[in-house]
Amino acid sequence: TPLYSSAASDVYKRQLFMLSAKTIAIVKSTAPILKEQGEALTKHFYKRMFSHNPEVIPLFNSAHQMSGMQQKALAEAICAYAANIDNLGVLSTAVELIAQKHSSLQIKPEHYPIVGENLLSSIQEVLGEAACDEVIKAWSEAYEFLANILIEREGQIYNEYASNRGGWEGFKPFHVIKKERESSVITSFYLSPKDGNSLPLFKPGQYITLRVPALNGSTIMRNYSLSDKPSQNWFRISVKREASTTPEAPNGYVSNFLHDDIKVGSCLEVGPPCGEFFLDVYKKDRKPLVLIAAGVGITPILSILLAALHDLPDHPITFIHANLNEDTHAFKKLINELASRHVNLKVHYCYSELSKTGILRDSSTSTGFVKAALLESIIEDRNADYYFCGPKPFMLGVYADLQRWGIPLSQIHFEFFGPRQELEIHQTLTV
Ligand code: FAD
Repeated sequence: TPLYSSAASDVYKRQLFMLSAKTIAIVKSTAPILKEQGEALTKHFYKRMFSHNPEVIPLFNSAHQMSGMQQKALAEAICAYAANIDNLGVLSTAVELIAQKHSSLQIKPEHYPIVGENLLSSIQEVLGEAACDEVIKAWSEAYEFLANILIEREGQIYNEYASNRGGWEGFKPFHVIKKERESSVITSFYLSPKDGNSLPLFKPGQYITLRVPALNGSTIMRNYSLSDKPSQNWFRISVKREASTTPEAPNGYVSNFLHDDIKVGSCLEVGPPCGEFFLDVYKKDRKPLVLIAAGVGITPILSILLAALHDLPDHPITFIHANLNEDTHAFKKLINELASRHVNLKVHYCYSELSKTGILRDSSTSTGFVKAALLESIIEDRNADYYFCGPKPFMLGVYADLQRWGIPLSQIHFEFFGPRQELEIHQTLTV
């Protein structure tokens, strides 16, 4: 049974009539200036909102704020909205993604006026004379229109979370029942609900949300993909310890907290599974599956692999996992066992560092990055359904290769562990 019955596009269709032609024309005319000033606008917006409404700070990822990713992502989203306001159907994929992400972070209707007020004031403050009363009025209507779509879709998602068997709303306490080292940097945590209730079914590829205490007495939320197959008595997440990338930056907060402070018996607050990246095991007209992961991007891909082997016996699957080296390579033993039991599963490992012994490991292993030539040599039937997840350069490379091969967008599925717009993959904004 699908976890959610109706998608963002249905909500769209019902609301489309609400914007006037004049509003549409004015908002669309602001697209060029927003493209030019977008990042200045969103930087100002976040600063303004966090000083006027500090209560919303815990809803945002401070690391993404520091890196500027969040501001860039919002600027891209605003530009895409302005440019496509006369053809909003093309944004429905992006709206579903945003609604799923908002629901994972417990964004509620009362948050929208806060964002709206700060966004409109920021447009006025940053764009100056270009933001005349007419422009502000049109953007106010356009914002309300989009907010209503999101509020309605998020309401549906919350209801579906709560009404699923074993489902719940908000955050619920879970016990850690097992903690297992998967590699030098990745550790798995097996989570079981403290109330002893059964777990809801999730779709392979989806993620849960953890809410943990912050140092300032507030809370911090992070998404983690479920790395095991559905229908287990636990949720398993597998977390990479994020080190600081510069001498001044702190280590990643939540991942290090989990690795260092969370033990078997510890309690964690967990939000229900969600996300629009998943393998639909009921889909008809199935193509061969190609699953490509880099580093900790293995987590949703592994769940998809396990579900596919269970639910789609004999279906051809190519699985490629890229890692820095053998030390950071998680789940190798499990994948090798699966490959030895399932003739339909073809596995390839790729290491970007040379082996410590200097010897090439075996025929199903290569050294270097995941590049077009490697994919060409491994993937026998390119007319496949592709699922991939990993860091930005990997994602951009794989996506470009698939586009070059002419793979239809309907056969390309990906998850990214940061703000999606950071990838600058057109598909997320305009499909
Ligand atoms: P953060 O504190 O968010 O820091 C991240 C980086 O920013 C670090 O390198 C840190 O040094 C730097 N940084 C932090 N603060 C500053 C600052 N003030 N100045 C400069 N730099 C700074 N991760 C997994 O490991 N496994 C998964 O299965 C997984 N699934 C995900 C699924 C989804 C849908 C998404 C969106 C993300 C997923 N992630 C996953 C990523 C995860 O949500 C976290 O982003 C990750 O664990 C890092 O969080 P953190 O709190 O440890 O690091």
